[in-house]
Amino acid sequence: MIRAARCRGIVLPVRGLLATAMLAGVLSVPAGCGGQAGTAPVAGSTTSRAVSPPTPVALPASAPAAAAVTSTTPAPPSVPAAVPRPAIRQWPIPFGSARKLQMAAYSLRHYGEDTYVLSHPRVIVEHYTETSTAQQAFNTFAPDVPDNEFHELPNTCAHFLVEPSGRIDQLVPLSLRCRHTTGLNWTAIGIENVGFSDREILENHAQMTASLRLTRWLRCRYSVSLKNVIGHNESLSSPFHHDAVPAFQHQTHADWNHADMGRYRALLARLPCSAG
Ligand SMILES: [Zn+2]
Repeated sequence: MIRAARCRGIVLPVRGLLATAMLAGVLSVPAGCGGQAGTAPVAGSTTSRAVSPPTPVALPASAPAAAAVTSTTPAPPSVPAAVPRPAIRQWPIPFGSARKLQMAAYSLRHYGEDTYVLSHPRVIVEHYTETSTAQQAFNTFAPDVPDNEFHELPNTCAHFLVEPSGRIDQLVPLSLRCRHTTGLNWTAIGIENVGFSDREILENHAQMTASLRLTRWLRCRYSVSLKNVIGHNESLSSPFHHDAVPAFQHQTHADWNHADMGRYRALLARLPCSAG
């Protein structure tokens, strides 16, 4: 889930600023799929202010063909031939230089890393949109405005949508960080399954087939272990979870609970990386 209006509420006990807010009688704050409050820089951070650019891969147009063969550009992670890439429609949300710089600033505030680059993702997070259509989710992510839950920039997003029909849309390149899961945005790929509940998606054969094929391809491509394919609701128990803003170190959402992700992972386990 992504935005306050579509999220159910904080699942675990709240502390710190949220507790203060509760005492003040203002905590009708629902859980935010990607949102985190607090905009103060991380005290004592020694992280360089330099923003890490994406890895350049383009060769000069005049480069001889042999140069491509001898290029020192690191090879992408190997993909076992038996794992097919599912059909993916490219449907990018605007993610220009301003949004990238906002993402780097967000990463510095929350993770002590001044970069917008997603490198070596270690976690895949499953969500559902609480919308009936992909267009509604796209419309939520596309404008780069402060999210309506925590009022931070950049706006929330996800790398992929999986539609009820089984169509897969890619909204954000895998080289970029996206705000979808508090504490894990530094290393997690976000997949939004269009729908209103875990069960609705689990019972949709076309959508589940697509979701599993996409997740399998991603986890095999990046060597993400089965246990690190998690539901948003499992985020706090991830060994990769951390956030420098204390009020949000215990913040998660209700989408894809442990029991339902157990079903999801059991299905995913039938699709190993080493087999066709
Ligand atoms: Zn979510």
